[in-house]
Amino acid sequence: MECRHLSRQRRLHGLLSIVLLDTANLVALIAMFISSPTQGLIFLFCYLGGSAVIVYSYCSKCPCRDQACAHVVPGMLASLLPRRRPGKYTGADLLGVALPVTVLLIFPQSALMSFGWPFYLYWGLISAGILDIVMFVCPGCGNKRCLVKGRHSGFAEEHEID
Ligand code: SF4
Repeated sequence: MECRHLSRQRRLHGLLSIVLLDTANLVALIAMFISSPTQGLIFLFCYLGGSAVIVYSYCSKCPCRDQACAHVVPGMLASLLPRRRPGKYTGADLLGVALPVTVLLIFPQSALMSFGWPFYLYWGLISAGILDIVMFVCPGCGNKRCLVKGRHSGFAEEHEID
């Protein structure tokens, strides 16, 4: 599968997953602002900075970034950042994804737990977003170097939806 074709179904699921994950982050942001405006501001900074680091580390090396990014927004952001040649992801690239994701996941947990139901809403949205990506976005993606794609390649071939 090359990065030439992006079906409507994959784009729809790609956008849906972004909405689900960003809604989870919005729930976390509101909980943190209510708990402590300072922590809310730090989380907002981490979210914006972390997203830019993730896009630069991962998406800017993705061959699908210009025309076939099913998530649309990261591909658009990647084309605004300095271009990097598609190729194997290095340890630094993977760290550029793992570190922001870990911070963004762990940081709001205490505030979310103190409110009760937003904690469950947050994890429900995160789980639905990840499930949507693995089931409907990864299959058909042309980024052969993607570790997530590689892990689910068997599933991807079986459930090709393009
Ligand atoms: S397909 Fe995935 S890795 Fe490629 S630009 Fe879009 S979000 Fe980034």
